[in-house]
Amino acid sequence: MPDFTLTLPATPNPFFFPFSILLSSVPLLGVSALLALALFKNLRNKTNHMSILIKGATLPEGKQSDILLEGNKISKIAPSLAEPADEKIDAKGKLLLPGFINTHAHSAMSLLRGFADDMSLKRWLETKIWPAEKKMSETDVYWGTMLAAAEMIRSGTTCFSDMYFHPDSVHKAATDSGMRAMVGYSVLDLGDSAKRKSELALSESFLKKHSKAKQGRVFVSVQPHAPNTCSKELLIASLEQAKNYNAKLHIHLSETRREVFELLQKTKMRPVDYLASLGFLSPNVILAHCVWLTKQEIKVLAHHGASVSHNPVSNMKLASGGVAPIPEMLESGVNVALGTDGAASNNSLSMFEVMKTASLLQKNMRWDEQSINAQQSFDFATRNGAKALGIDAGEIKEGKLADLILLDLNAPNMLPAHSLISNIVYSAHAGNVTDSIIDGKIVMRNRKVLAFDEEKVLEEAKKAAQRIAYS
Ligand SMILES: [Zn+2]
Repeated sequence: MPDFTLTLPATPNPFFFPFSILLSSVPLLGVSALLALALFKNLRNKTNHMSILIKGATLPEGKQSDILLEGNKISKIAPSLAEPADEKIDAKGKLLLPGFINTHAHSAMSLLRGFADDMSLKRWLETKIWPAEKKMSETDVYWGTMLAAAEMIRSGTTCFSDMYFHPDSVHKAATDSGMRAMVGYSVLDLGDSAKRKSELALSESFLKKHSKAKQGRVFVSVQPHAPNTCSKELLIASLEQAKNYNAKLHIHLSETRREVFELLQKTKMRPVDYLASLGFLSPNVILAHCVWLTKQEIKVLAHHGASVSHNPVSNMKLASGGVAPIPEMLESGVNVALGTDGAASNNSLSMFEVMKTASLLQKNMRWDEQSINAQQSFDFATRNGAKALGIDAGEIKEGKLADLILLDLNAPNMLPAHSLISNIVYSAHAGNVTDSIIDGKIVMRNRKVLAFDEEKVLEEAKKAAQRIAYS
């Protein structure tokens, strides 16, 4: 493992003080035990099970409400609450939203932001991105993921689904960042059986190490890269791994015409039909991109209940050419969520931009101003994302996970408030997000990131990016 030198505030040891009393003074045993219990409970409250009372927040539908968070859940929503809480947030003049769920990211590619732009996908990958990625160490991936986490938190994202290499580093960064995340190791073999074996072993060792926490804030996934870069055997083995570890499958699909034609030539099947023929499709699968689909393929996706991660900004920037048939997917009942893709092809990780683009792209392409309205785009970024990743979040409801953000309603671009949902999707930007709560913990307060030392992250990420790009 790399030498991670991130300095975090030391976690207080709840056992140190009581044990020192116990050892030094036997007659005080009873008092000490009580003190130990009280101290331990207090620390648990402060570190793990903090309650937060949010007062006077405006909800997306426009009404004002108080919201009590206990543990990592939303426990009460009412016009006025006076429950005692460890922390109170005055949210007058602020809009409370479920945090955004970025269902397709390659977080550490934040180190390659702006490194190569305005190139064809093939040249971009072969001459710039792949050579740079070869130079990325485990430590680089850690700092790159932390940089992405800082950007995501500041732009209202509370959960991300990551697909990259050095997954231990991504897992550690996700854990340290305070964000909710689905993390896995992206495998590909290009038909090489030796590579398949080693890739599967790496994925297996990652799953073995981290799958116990699958119900926790950071959980695992299985990630065959794409049907054209993975052999049939690797896809089937990945499916088995996902079943064994009760993990989601995350895969690229039909991003470009080239890959569709390649697969057609090789298998005589279109990508969705090919995956269906392997028994790969189910509600457990998240398919990134899905730009070049036929109506028949959409029906197959709907039949199997697979989720689509739509990445319109990345698709447009890489000139994928087509437009993902989102209205047809919705009509067939496919669950559509949103993703940024990596920062090398977006180049931002802001879900505000993705929501807006998802809506504008369909309107413009179809000459239909009603296509993908603001509410639909917002739902893609929140509740549909939660459904895709299998987490009980994405909505402000009692019992849901406390993954929430606050936006400043008095910022010039948020006024007037004729329609909050229009402002959220068509006008809001990252700078409007003031606070972020993830898993019931405040990770950003008044635009100060509390979960980690952000200054250190920015410094280390700058150093790593410099070395990768120019060494
Ligand atoms: Zn991708």
